[in-house]
Amino acid sequence: MTHSSQSDIEQILNGISDISFESKTVLITGGSGFLGSWMCETLLNKGAEVICLDNYASGKAENTDHLKTHPKFTRIFHDISKSYDPGRKIDLICHLASRASPLEFEHYPIQILKSNTLGTMNALGIAKKYEAAFLFTSTSETYGEAAIFPTPETYRGNVNTLGIRGCYDEAKRAGEAFCMAYFRQHGLDVRIARIFNTYGPGMRSDGHYGRVIPRFMDQAANNQPITIFGDGKQTRSFCYVTDQITGLLRLAVLPGISGEVVNIGNPVEWTILELARMIIELCGSSSELTYQPMPPDDPTRRVPDITKARATLGWEPKVELRDGLLKMMNKK
Ligand code: UDP
Repeated sequence: MTHSSQSDIEQILNGISDISFESKTVLITGGSGFLGSWMCETLLNKGAEVICLDNYASGKAENTDHLKTHPKFTRIFHDISKSYDPGRKIDLICHLASRASPLEFEHYPIQILKSNTLGTMNALGIAKKYEAAFLFTSTSETYGEAAIFPTPETYRGNVNTLGIRGCYDEAKRAGEAFCMAYFRQHGLDVRIARIFNTYGPGMRSDGHYGRVIPRFMDQAANNQPITIFGDGKQTRSFCYVTDQITGLLRLAVLPGISGEVVNIGNPVEWTILELARMIIELCGSSSELTYQPMPPDDPTRRVPDITKARATLGWEPKVELRDGLLKMMNKK
């Protein structure tokens, strides 16, 4: 089943029309996940050969089933925290494999640590062997409970190593350090994206583990109470998936940014209460709000400074939250 509309794919292709992937082979770990499946589809549209690696821990085979018959698409069941050799020349590796929902951190902390540390090391090993460029998808979570807003890449973070989110935050921080070690010691062409909250069609909405937007949408669609954690005054900045994929692919290949880290996210900040009210309104739902305890270490504010992305990638998000939510609901 495809979740990407033609207009969404065209939007991404417009944003990377100056970049060629013709005759390139790209390996995508987590290729059947939310972002991975969008990336596979985009790259096939650009004429690339795509190898999609996934162990379906959180990704879903059905996200890429529609690509299976494409002559340039190969799908392999593999857990990247175990070593892997594609046995063929690779030009670019995009390491996306990881669970990312805070609701999973309690149940899968070891898997999360492994895919971002051992997994990053294994993926870098492939890049070294085949002299491929490397994109690591890190996270705004490396900033933890930040003190500077909007948060620039130079902010070093305030993370609780021992807390429930530590498995994700610290694993991504270690992943970044792995990248920089391979960049410095082996001269690898690595680029690090710090991804801020991203949403869109194809995002998991399986109730329990879902991120805030698909969760609220499910609740609103069923006229069930919207579960606000804490007082709902915490903020997030939501990037529509087409903007995110455009930013990631520009970062992956543009010259002059090897060894750099760049925030990729939408700079408009919303409270969770504002988000809940907008989703209720757009769904035409009669859901009420219900308040639940705030999960430990849930960041109070999150908003990216994207000055560096604007300058180095010539990129900024184009899709406003309201429009992106409508597209996700198939209402636009
Ligand atoms: N959130 C909420 N209710 C939910 C799920 C999430 O209020 O049912 C809040 C959560 O506490 C956080 C924000 O929404 O402040 C974003 O949560 P998400 O799970 O998408 O990931 P995060 O941004 O925390 O990594």
